[in-house]
Amino acid sequence: LMGQMMEMPLMISSLIKHAARHSADTEIVSKRTEGDIHRYTYKDCELRARKLAQAFARLGCEAGDRVGTLAWNGYRHLEIYYAASGSALVCHTINPRLFPEQIVWIVEDAKDRVLCFDLTFLPLVEKIAPMLKSVKHFVLMTDRAHMPAASSLKGLLCYDELVEAENGNYAWPEFDESTASSICYTSGTTGNPKGAVYSHRSTLLHAYASALPDALGCSAADTILPVVPMFHVNAWGLPYSAALVGAKLVMPGPHLDGKSLHELFENEKVTFSAGVPTVWLGLINYVKQNDLKFSTFKRTVIGGSACPPSMLRTLQDEFGVEVIHAWGMTEMSPLGTLAKLKGKHVSLSKEAKERLQFTQGRVVYGVDMLILDDDNKPLPWDGKASGNLVVRGPWVIASYFQRDESPLVKVDGLDWFPTGDVATIDADGFMQITDRSKDVIKSGGEWISSIDLENIAMAHPAVHEAAAIACRHPKWDERPLLVVVKKPGAELSREELLGFFEGRIAKWQIPDDVAFVSEIPHTATGKIQKLKLRETFKDHQLP
Ligand code: ADP
Repeated sequence: LMGQMMEMPLMISSLIKHAARHSADTEIVSKRTEGDIHRYTYKDCELRARKLAQAFARLGCEAGDRVGTLAWNGYRHLEIYYAASGSALVCHTINPRLFPEQIVWIVEDAKDRVLCFDLTFLPLVEKIAPMLKSVKHFVLMTDRAHMPAASSLKGLLCYDELVEAENGNYAWPEFDESTASSICYTSGTTGNPKGAVYSHRSTLLHAYASALPDALGCSAADTILPVVPMFHVNAWGLPYSAALVGAKLVMPGPHLDGKSLHELFENEKVTFSAGVPTVWLGLINYVKQNDLKFSTFKRTVIGGSACPPSMLRTLQDEFGVEVIHAWGMTEMSPLGTLAKLKGKHVSLSKEAKERLQFTQGRVVYGVDMLILDDDNKPLPWDGKASGNLVVRGPWVIASYFQRDESPLVKVDGLDWFPTGDVATIDADGFMQITDRSKDVIKSGGEWISSIDLENIAMAHPAVHEAAAIACRHPKWDERPLLVVVKKPGAELSREELLGFFEGRIAKWQIPDDVAFVSEIPHTATGKIQKLKLRETFKDHQLP
């Protein structure tokens, strides 16, 4: 017997349609790159998204074509999210913090047909445009008044003009819910960045689950300010969950310093926010130094890197802001686990509750997890055994964009995605990350490839062998340390070697320090023993 319910594909456009109908006058407020504050409503947003979908079609875009974005959090970026996905195109958010060569590589790999970018990135795009063979249209996300008098980009289009030229007479199409909706590349992996291709279905299921009370707990009574950028796994899905519940959205644009954020939190009465630990550090310092407080801010999700216990305590005890420590990945849309307590924990002491909050938390329905030993055998959930963390679920990737090799592992006949994180899980399902098996460094929420650093160092004539490892850092969570063996008889100083990185990699990715050693430990198969190196240098003081 089959169910007799309406068949309705889960479409991303249904979120903005719903918000426009049922939260028509709820505001979306954006601090713009132009410097001012822009405000309009979900109703306005949906109309402009429809016009933008018409504009993309007029530019010749066809189903499946990729629309790249280099943009901060703002209403135009939100319109692109809905217009591109809603019209069967694929929204490809690009991380502008990557080195220009990496951006070129990613745009070319994704074969973006249109590239939309904020004013901030005009010089960058002008520089790399000759290398972007796939891009047919460059769209500057601004109005006519802010268009440059001259640009090396031939036929540079003005975003607002494109939108305003259309009549909005457009009905969101329905199509297969498994169609690609957006792509996000992750550089948190060895080798070149890899694309995670989300679908309408995966995005909708993720939006439903993340709005739940034990997840992000979003409501129509909330004012949500995603500090996490829209080029980081779709700002952790908040642009979708906010529309799903009809919450007011506040977008900070490029202004992520403590002062700008605090003003926006207060002026717009923000209740809920989300971001990586590094941004909270700036905000907390500013608020403390100026003896300020938060009058409406009640909850925040902190993830992307481990939330330092001191940060959790400061926000909760001094500012009355509940901290929800969360863990996820680009490959997981990104939500995996959140450290929300169960009913049985209510009577625990403050310290015992905090200990649970410091963990990466429990899975949200839709994600399942296991920890495995090196033979892929599941380990017990005793809070002690630590193993390779694997996950599965409808918003976890099954493969990477245009890559044949499957990333999945089989356990008891089922496919699981290996996260590259090493963790323990306790009897209540609270997962705690203890290490990382993937060879990357995460600084301020952004990835640095150890291999890239090692390859650059090895290109220096005085270097015999080099290994890059993560060192703990109070502000950036992790910073790279380069461990180097010099060639016999070679002269090389720390300054000279670090100077060698200039121009070869983004400035913020250059290692903080160099440790010269006589030997780097290897495994029997000749691989560098990173775990051992991390252990040796765990108390290394970065300058
Ligand atoms: P995100 O946008 O969530 O940072 P990425 O794909 O860039 O997504 O990074 C995912 C990786 O970041 C995880 O596999 C893990 O190594 C690390 N990570 C994410 N959240 C946490 C956390 N709360 N604690 C420790 N590490 C984390």
